[in-house]
Amino acid sequence: MLILQPDDNAAWLAPYAYAIVFLGFAFFLFRVFENWYANAYDKPLYRHYFVFRKLSSTQISILENDFSFYSLLSDKEKRQFRHRVSTFISEKEFIGREGILVTERMKVLISAVGCMLSFGRRNYDYGLIEHILIYPDEFYSKINNAMHKGEFNPYGKALVLSWKDFEEGYQITNDNRNLGIHEFMHAMQLEAQKSRDLDSTRFAKQFQNILMQLTHKEVKDKLDETKYFRAYAFTNQYEFMAVLAEYFIESPKDFKSHFPKLYSYTQKLLNFRFAGY
Ligand SMILES: [Zn+2]
Repeated sequence: MLILQPDDNAAWLAPYAYAIVFLGFAFFLFRVFENWYANAYDKPLYRHYFVFRKLSSTQISILENDFSFYSLLSDKEKRQFRHRVSTFISEKEFIGREGILVTERMKVLISAVGCMLSFGRRNYDYGLIEHILIYPDEFYSKINNAMHKGEFNPYGKALVLSWKDFEEGYQITNDNRNLGIHEFMHAMQLEAQKSRDLDSTRFAKQFQNILMQLTHKEVKDKLDETKYFRAYAFTNQYEFMAVLAEYFIESPKDFKSHFPKLYSYTQKLLNFRFAGY
């Protein structure tokens, strides 16, 4: 039988207890620093922990041949991008509707558009999306009993796309219409409202800056005069951000020259500082 005094028992534990408290405190300090940094410099301190996931050679050639954004990245960024696309594909369920067969090309390109929009963020994988439903063409939506080209349904955690319109969206690069970017932005904005991670906090801050811009008389007048953004943008705050993202992705130079501040806040919101943007 061994009877230990409580003090004896604690004595050998003490170094571990100190270590745990110390580590906990160091972690806390790091988080404080990280948040300060993200706020001060309008970007996360780092975007990647590990980059290890690979794509198959078929998947890589789809990116190389069909996705021009990929070719604008540096070798290091390409590795990061492939890792992200691979993770995205493995995490989401792709479902074909109305008899459409889901191909590797569809999976890669839809994932690539999502990962492109979130490439400046640390949190890139759209927690509010679990299922991706692909229709061959416009589809009937019960939400408002109308035909849709795409929608994001947060209740069903589903991104729904017409493949025809999705393809036109990223292939025609000068019409400021990009269905994939539009719907992914809806998912990103709703996520920013629900969570409190670094990227969501940054989103909220820059979104406020964007709204403030819209209250300035000269910006309002210019928007009215030029009708630069298509009318649909002014449906509500969600459609505004989704359309803003389409213009940002498709015609950055034009957007920047017309509305430099709106452009700059959008760029900060996405931390989009690569591929020549
Ligand atoms: Zn929309």
